[in-house]
Amino acid sequence: TSAAPLLTVRDLNAWYGESHVLHGINVDVNPGEVVTLLGRNGAGKTTTLKCIMGIVRSRKGSITFEGRETIGMSSNQIARAGIAFCPEERAIFSSLDVIENLMLPPVIKQGGMSVEEVFGLFPRLKERGSSQGTKLSGGEQQMLAIARILRTGANLLLLDEPTEGLAPVIVQQIGEIIRALKAKGFTIVLVEQNFHFASTVADRHYVVEEGHVVDMLTADDIATSQDKLKQYLGV
Ligand code: ATP
Repeated sequence: TSAAPLLTVRDLNAWYGESHVLHGINVDVNPGEVVTLLGRNGAGKTTTLKCIMGIVRSRKGSITFEGRETIGMSSNQIARAGIAFCPEERAIFSSLDVIENLMLPPVIKQGGMSVEEVFGLFPRLKERGSSQGTKLSGGEQQMLAIARILRTGANLLLLDEPTEGLAPVIVQQIGEIIRALKAKGFTIVLVEQNFHFASTVADRHYVVEEGHVVDMLTADDIATSQDKLKQYLGV
């Protein structure tokens, strides 16, 4: 389609102190797409998400969301614009129960899902409503972490390795949730090391190596690019 991209990342550079870790990342994400960032440990995938969210402040280049430049904006302003980040550590409040977790943070943008709507997508969380964060399985914690960002009303979701450490059956459930979110019109950028999982949910894949995008593959390219991908990912 000829729709303008929802998100554009152009010549993105980023630093941790003196350490220059992103060297000109370029990524486009169209409205309603699921896009992955694939690559080995330390390639710069998480840092790219953190730059988009404004958490890594030491960044240069251009990141536009709905046509607006976000470099220079605070992560708070970026959240209000409609971007949400689900970190690898699954930032949930372990001493609070499921419902309490869903009451925090407050809805920050109109259109944020109600707790009931969230439970519609995650029936398992409804069953676990009064269970404390510490009592949840890894998969339930991941679902809660995703559920929390749906409360914010964001339309661009940044998910950092949502399948990490989860059993195959739970990975499949996370895949179903991502497909359901896509069907609802959300746009998703996913960091993944699990290439098989990525290929079941994503429209396109950007391969990141040492702070550069070295390749872009569409879902259709995947079948014929297995060897190349194994090399990129070192698997
Ligand atoms: P992973 O899957 O391990 O998170 P990644 O592709 O997401 O890998 P990043 O976490 O973005 O990679 O890391 C990119 C580079 O930046 C790596 O060399 C890493 O060691 C470095 N790095 C990441 N976080 C910090 C930090 N807080 N301070 C200093 N260096 C960092």
